[in-house]
Amino acid sequence: MRAEELSWTHRSIQSPILNPGYRLERERLPIVQEVDRYLRETKGKYLPHQLEFGGRLALNAARNALVGTDGGSNYGIGASVMVVHNGIAALFEGENTMVTGTEEERLTGHAETNGLKGVMAYASGNQSKGPIDIVKLDVLKLPFDMGRSGTGIIMSGTLEPCPMCECVATNALAVTRGILGPDAVIRSVSSSVDGSIEGALNNGAAHALGQKATSSPNVWRSIQRGYFQGQNPPDFTPIQFSLLQTTPDPLQGFNPPGMYHRTEDKDLERLSSEIFTQTRQQVDEFLATGKK
Ligand SMILES: [Zn+2]
Repeated sequence: MRAEELSWTHRSIQSPILNPGYRLERERLPIVQEVDRYLRETKGKYLPHQLEFGGRLALNAARNALVGTDGGSNYGIGASVMVVHNGIAALFEGENTMVTGTEEERLTGHAETNGLKGVMAYASGNQSKGPIDIVKLDVLKLPFDMGRSGTGIIMSGTLEPCPMCECVATNALAVTRGILGPDAVIRSVSSSVDGSIEGALNNGAAHALGQKATSSPNVWRSIQRGYFQGQNPPDFTPIQFSLLQTTPDPLQGFNPPGMYHRTEDKDLERLSSEIFTQTRQQVDEFLATGKK
């Protein structure tokens, strides 16, 4: 029997929420209007060496993921990925595509994962979706310490990376070093936290930041620190997950070096969180039930 004869193959791909006026409806949501106003007012405000620059791009991607295409809408989560090499920054974006992607894309359609996959696809010759911008960067003005080479990837996200995206970012180190050189690093910066530990319960969907990071799988943590059994960790951590916030102690006392960056941009912090929390219910229900 050939695969084409299986009754479940070649099914048409349908967006779960079919409503031609849906995009307009989404654009009128107060949170989307607020984000649009923020994006208008901060156009050109930040330069690539400021962490808010990547955070703002990520918020724009979250907005586009939520508004979606006609007939479909995703989680309001976005990411930007800045590839820094030889003083040039190439900017990529990643939108959540959990609902509007193809069946295949829906399996892993998270913002950070999409952003990183886009970079790797482009690096390996797929030019169909390239960088959204390429800017010259003063190597003395990197957003933060990226080691001797000043080379690597800065991934900004509106929300703390989930375990899948944390794993993808962890796996991305070896690929990134193959492309950019042996000293390349990966830095993840989030504009909001996804849950906290309460007793034995993680009430969110992530364990990249704060005390939660200690419950991340030990093998991942070792790879993130750049060593494996029997070796000493290098003096420079290859992969770090961190938070960009206005509050002085957002991780409740658990702020190891490099895990927290301060910003004065209250709107970036609030909108990055609210564009997801205010609109997530419909997608949560779809993922839990599969019902359109
Ligand atoms: Zn994820």
